Amino acid sequence: MQRRLAFRNERILHRKTSAATGKEIISIFRPDSPMKVYEHEAFYSDNWDPLAYGQDYDFSKPFFKQLQELMVRTPTLALFDEKSTNSSYCNLVVEQKNCYLVTAGWTSEDCMYVNRGDHNKNSLDLYICGRNEFCYDNVYCEDSYRLFYSHTCKDCNDCYFLYDCRGCSSCFGCAGLRNQKYHIFNKPYTKEEYLKKIKEFDLGDWNVVCNIKKQVEELRLSVPHRYAQIQKSTNAVGDHIHNVKNAYYCFDFLSGAENVKYSHWSSGEFRDSYDTGPGTGGNSELLYESVSIGVQNARCMFNFVVWYSHDVQYSINCHGSNNLFGCVSLVNKSYCIFNKQYTKEEYEKLVPNIIAHMNEMPYIDKKGRVYKYGEFFPIEISPFPYNDSIAQDYMPITKEEAEAKGYSWGEVQSKNYNITKLAADLPVKISDVPDDITQETIGCMHEGICQDGCATAFRIMPDELKFYRNLNIPLPRLCFACRHKDRLKQRNPMKLWHRKCACVGEKSENGIYQNQTKHFHGTGKCPNEFETSYFPDRKEIVYCEQCYQTEVA
Ligand SMILES: [Zn+2]
Ligand SMILES: [Zn+2]
Ligand SMILES: [Zn+2]
Repeated sequence: MQRRLAFRNERILHRKTSAATGKEIISIFRPDSPMKVYEHEAFYSDNWDPLAYGQDYDFSKPFFKQLQELMVRTPTLALFDEKSTNSSYCNLVVEQKNCYLVTAGWTSEDCMYVNRGDHNKNSLDLYICGRNEFCYDNVYCEDSYRLFYSHTCKDCNDCYFLYDCRGCSSCFGCAGLRNQKYHIFNKPYTKEEYLKKIKEFDLGDWNVVCNIKKQVEELRLSVPHRYAQIQKSTNAVGDHIHNVKNAYYCFDFLSGAENVKYSHWSSGEFRDSYDTGPGTGGNSELLYESVSIGVQNARCMFNFVVWYSHDVQYSINCHGSNNLFGCVSLVNKSYCIFNKQYTKEEYEKLVPNIIAHMNEMPYIDKKGRVYKYGEFFPIEISPFPYNDSIAQDYMPITKEEAEAKGYSWGEVQSKNYNITKLAADLPVKISDVPDDITQETIGCMHEGICQDGCATAFRIMPDELKFYRNLNIPLPRLCFACRHKDRLKQRNPMKLWHRKCACVGEKSENGIYQNQTKHFHGTGKCPNEFETSYFPDRKEIVYCEQCYQTEVA
């Protein structure tokens, strides 16, 4: 998984010169990277031919060495965005409309600062969320409308600060509720009382929002947690997977899947696949050891960004193609090897010879690791420094550790923004924010000294200001990178621990336990055991499905 992650940069963007037009464009590749990047229009134009970069396979050199050379000399897309309109700074996305800084997702409209979303509309600051409208600052939320500052919710409308709630409307600061209305901090109110109380919270005030977030975190720790978020599934092991059949060690599926193992981050169903993602699904089947592979693919192995294709192996940035082996940036091509056109008969004869050669003369990296046929690309040939790739989000290491392992590391580029306003000097209430705030360069509160890849400064876009004003949301104090890392910290790792149910058979009051410590790991009376992404020393009360259903659902 680490190797696949190191070949995926979702949201670290750089300015880079287009090799097609000489213009300065936005790219996931660094300005000093040897990768040749083309903007979308240039890449899909008839002015160049990727087959012109092709070569005969060289039986005197390891396969991966030759593939790296082909990858560097053949132009590639600056950003991987397909079928998008009026959207900028979007990467690894398909069918976005009027979006800004939306990364790793499908089919969203009028969204900003979303990472890993699908079918969201008019929403900002989401992480792993699908089919939401007018939502803000949520993690793992689905099918909701006007849901704010929430985590792991589904079908919730007009709600704030929820954790693990379903089918709720007009609820505030609640955890573990099902089909409830007019609850505040898990206590029921009449409609009139509720509306009166909610008005008393000044939600357009930054300090109020921060205080409520702290209160809700305490509440969250006092309610039982389901050992894993798995619904409508059979024979499933993992977390945040629904409508799956026969899934093992899988995480973060926004749609269903069947017969899959060791895969993560998908939207759109997929089946019969192993070791795929992030960026998998999308009506695909028979995928193996591939990253960013999720759009209508079949029989694809060892690839990095291959969409709408079948029977493709060891290829990079290829689309609408079939029967490719070791190709880069091909569109609508068949029977090519190292960007050279062959007949079907020639192709079928040469591929087994190359596979045999990959095993006879394997690639050996700087640290002596051996890569034969059947292995994903070595990290050392990734076009991204380790810390620009999402490997740094999900399997973070230090610069020293990266160097010891032979992975490249990108130095932090000095940003030198001319900061015109500090986050601390922003108006506390959204109602006090003047129109000209969109002209300011605001200094991020973390000032670049955190471990979040802080951009040090950010701007408020006019549409963004409108959104905050309409929905009474105070201005953010952090740049997008730091806000994203805050949400990332709220998720569990993609790892499972074997644990015992913590249920002691004591009834709660409104779903809240008074004596939390009694419920910690290993003290429960229930004999059930399970695989969970909550590691044993965590503070959450973790229940088996049966006990959870009795208490919460
Ligand atoms: Zn920052
Ligand atoms: Zn930060
Ligand atoms: Zn139990």
